[in-house]
Amino acid sequence: MSKGKWKKMTTTAVHKYWTTRINEEIMYYSSLKYIPTSSFKVGKIHPLALANSANQRDINRIPIRIKIATGTYILQTNRAAYNQNNVDPTCKLCDQAEESLSHFLLCCRALDQIRTPILKNIICKCSELLSLQHSNIHLDILLLIINPFHYACSVESENDISFRIEPLCRHLIYNLHNKRYEILSKIDLISSRRKMNFKVMSNGQQYRLILTKQEDFVLVGASPKYKCTVNQNANFLITNPLKWEKRGRDGSKVVISVLANVEAGLEQEYNVQPDVADFTQSFTLSLMQGIKEDYDGHFACVLYQWNSTAVLAKKTVAVHVIHC
Ligand SMILES: [Zn+2]
Repeated sequence: MSKGKWKKMTTTAVHKYWTTRINEEIMYYSSLKYIPTSSFKVGKIHPLALANSANQRDINRIPIRIKIATGTYILQTNRAAYNQNNVDPTCKLCDQAEESLSHFLLCCRALDQIRTPILKNIICKCSELLSLQHSNIHLDILLLIINPFHYACSVESENDISFRIEPLCRHLIYNLHNKRYEILSKIDLISSRRKMNFKVMSNGQQYRLILTKQEDFVLVGASPKYKCTVNQNANFLITNPLKWEKRGRDGSKVVISVLANVEAGLEQEYNVQPDVADFTQSFTLSLMQGIKEDYDGHFACVLYQWNSTAVLAKKTVAVHVIHC
């Protein structure tokens, strides 16, 4: 037998072994449900993993794209399913629903700004492609993003998808992933700051103010409440007023309330609920019309010295308004 013939025979045997094994075992891996067995060609790179250019930025997008396609990208629902320590499957970004793959890719409102323009482009390009193929296939958007090659009906259409649709899907997935990590790392930073603040507050400052939040990420229209508590009695506060103020990122300052009295003209917008006890007084600020885009900035709770502008204590909550 010639060397070439032997080599060809061995390669065929190896390919046959892997094709049979993949076909037999794929049914046991539910995470691979978006990748049909017919799309595996042993010896050839799967088009989902193929680099269409030598551009490093495009190549960097491939690992995350593969994790999404093979069900190995870890979201809160995966953590909850595999963790025995009662992990909450709720999305940490929006707090509105369980963080499943479809929530992350299609629904999470905190990622809308990143998602909408790219997704529109994908749907538009894909509709063009399907109309060229004279195809009446119903588009499943989730499947389209996870594996657009599902809609390839010929070698030509696979090439079209490779160069026109798949790069957009990678772009979308990569940008969603980056935004998700950016928000999650801010949330982690806030919780670690809260722990630090707790230590600082326990050292007995004279005019201690406690604010329920130091930083908040809120969607337009949401109605958060911020409660400020001071360890002083009512007589002290009558002479040393506690004010809620709105501070813009440009340095602007508006007094919202003095104790529980909202300033004239702002009653439709703000409410301050007092909660009086012997040694502590709380003033909870609520936003009557929900969070508006121009609330992006800070709400400050400030304790002023009697008859002066001297500040005895101040706490602020940084409000990041998330646009949709
Ligand atoms: Zn979400």
